[in-house]
Amino acid sequence: MKQILGISLVIMFFFQIVGTAQRNFSDSEITKLVLLGTGNPNPSPEQSGCALALLVNSTPYIVDFGPGLIRKAASLTPRYGGDFEGFKIKDIKTAFLTHLHSDHTIGYPDLILTPWVMGRDEPLSVYGPVGTGSLTENILKAYEQDIHYRVYGAEPTNDVGWRVNCHEFEKEGVIYRDSNITVEAFPVVHGTWPNAWGFRFTTPDKVIVISGDCKPSEKVVEYSKDADILVHEVYSKAGFDTKPLEWKQYHTEHHTSTLELADIASRANPGKVVLYHILFWGSSEEALLEEIKTGYQGEVVVGQDLDVF
Ligand SMILES: [Zn+2]
Ligand SMILES: [Zn+2]
Repeated sequence: MKQILGISLVIMFFFQIVGTAQRNFSDSEITKLVLLGTGNPNPSPEQSGCALALLVNSTPYIVDFGPGLIRKAASLTPRYGGDFEGFKIKDIKTAFLTHLHSDHTIGYPDLILTPWVMGRDEPLSVYGPVGTGSLTENILKAYEQDIHYRVYGAEPTNDVGWRVNCHEFEKEGVIYRDSNITVEAFPVVHGTWPNAWGFRFTTPDKVIVISGDCKPSEKVVEYSKDADILVHEVYSKAGFDTKPLEWKQYHTEHHTSTLELADIASRANPGKVVLYHILFWGSSEEALLEEIKTGYQGEVVVGQDLDVF
């Protein structure tokens, strides 16, 4: 009895280690894409809020600001046991936003304030759709007491790092360029949401496309053509089939099923498809992959929080 208990404890311990180990799929020394959160509005403890970090030559760029993003990013840093040498939270200075839905923006105050509290001494630069400026102003207003106390109280801090240089973009095409990356925005269809975008990142050695939240459209296929990695949102078709009619209508207009994603991937031909913003609805990872396999035979990874590509 004691021996059986001992063995099962060892097995549990093993699975705990395996279950929490960070998966590394990256084959590049220059470009690392980290899924900070693979979640959606449902507050699953298994899926942190929707956010990605792209590190190019160790410079971090954030995409979307779902809840928990700074905690997840911190886990990459050596200070908190991560193996991204030299990466610090205060280094987060540039960020891109696909759209203003709350599951992509609840972490925005965290993105503005925590890296500043940790020492960022220059403004955060944010590139987002129309409305991002107003969201930013209102967040800063909501936190004015905190900012005032930190700047004028006893806390040693600077009066710069909490500021945000906000750049709203309205047109398809290049929205940002530096020596590490070029970022193109492309419009996606997300119900009747007027300003929903996907991004195509070109680094010195990779092309990475992020779908944002969307139902299928030709733009997604066009911008994903021959990308190294297509990070795409998805929902389970089996789960969808169990939903009431009004939710079926909602999801058909706003999101992409496994079968639809198979069609997109087979036409875009990316090197790898990574699933994020995943609505499992009770399905397993294997079931999602099986559904996609009915229409697409390329490599697909069901993204987990902190996966590196
Ligand atoms: Zn979303
Ligand atoms: Zn959305």
